[in-house]
Amino acid sequence: MVVTSPEHAHQACAVVRDALAAAGLQINEGKTQAWFKNPAVTLHPALSNLRTRQLKVLGAHVAWLDREESQAPVHGPVDHNKVLQQAKALVKRVSDLRGAGLTFRSSFLVLQTYTNSCVNHLQRANYEDGSWVKELEDTMQRALGQLLEVNGHSEADLTQLQKDLASLRTRDGGLAYGGLPERSGTAYLASWALCLKQVAGELGVLSLAAFQAKCPDISAKMQMAESATLLLGANKGRALDWHQALRIPLSKKQGVWSKEIAKKKRDTLLSSLNEEDAADLRTNGGPGAGAFLMPPVSGDEAVKVIPDSHLCVLLRDRLLMRVCPAGACCKHRRPDGRLCGAPLDARGKHARMCKIQGLVEERHD
Ligand SMILES: [Zn+2]
Repeated sequence: MVVTSPEHAHQACAVVRDALAAAGLQINEGKTQAWFKNPAVTLHPALSNLRTRQLKVLGAHVAWLDREESQAPVHGPVDHNKVLQQAKALVKRVSDLRGAGLTFRSSFLVLQTYTNSCVNHLQRANYEDGSWVKELEDTMQRALGQLLEVNGHSEADLTQLQKDLASLRTRDGGLAYGGLPERSGTAYLASWALCLKQVAGELGVLSLAAFQAKCPDISAKMQMAESATLLLGANKGRALDWHQALRIPLSKKQGVWSKEIAKKKRDTLLSSLNEEDAADLRTNGGPGAGAFLMPPVSGDEAVKVIPDSHLCVLLRDRLLMRVCPAGACCKHRRPDGRLCGAPLDARGKHARMCKIQGLVEERHD
């Protein structure tokens, strides 16, 4: 964003254009807007086609630019219907493409990437505790359930346990998928931890109390976000040190608090599971436990690509779902040709351990 007086806007535009050109880039006219608070002010004719009456930043209205009050509200209303519509359109598109041959791996990675980044900017700008965040989470979790269907049997309605497991980090045995509502607090507070000092400087306030008096709405939101985030396990439940944030910008706090929340969530899940499921969850985690989701290094012949059908089983396994069909029997063969024939348990314990036909070091589905 470039801020300049209207009489210099044209020259400022030229400066940006030249700087980008030097790096081999150019202005994307379709995404560039020129805005001035007073609509009566004339801009250079070259900018007239870029002119907009209402400025939005990162999808949210910048209401504070239009406000005259001495206070400094920065919360802009989010058009959450648009966010939900976009998410539903993406889910449908991925589903259509999957039907037309998109691989399971690509479908999952698209949904996972989208879920992890689609509203980051909104969650950092505002404390988004509205029901739409939960609705968005449900939409994306339903898409995961549909993707994990086997033999036409859809898992569209994941249980709360499966959703919780999906939202764990891969190194914690999860799928690093979703968990949007609990990210609202950490994203918002981490933004403030980083910029509180600078904002206070712009406002000319020297103490936390003065900041709270100057920005009561924001302070109230920050307190709400902090209460919710501490309850989830951030900062070990202790109050955040805003006096420190007022002195120095604190970076990378979202990652720190998210890890603490993730640890508490995993501990809570482990204590709620039976011994066998808890052991499975522990087995699925650990350093490098998410490497199977990474695309194989191209050109490395030694790296075998996990087939899509196996990847689906691996993902289901991480959600402690059934990985062997009901009524199925082990198809391992003895040297004399006879089948093992043992009934397969839902979680595939026998399939992993059956020594008939060798392959004890490799799992099969
Ligand atoms: Zn067997």
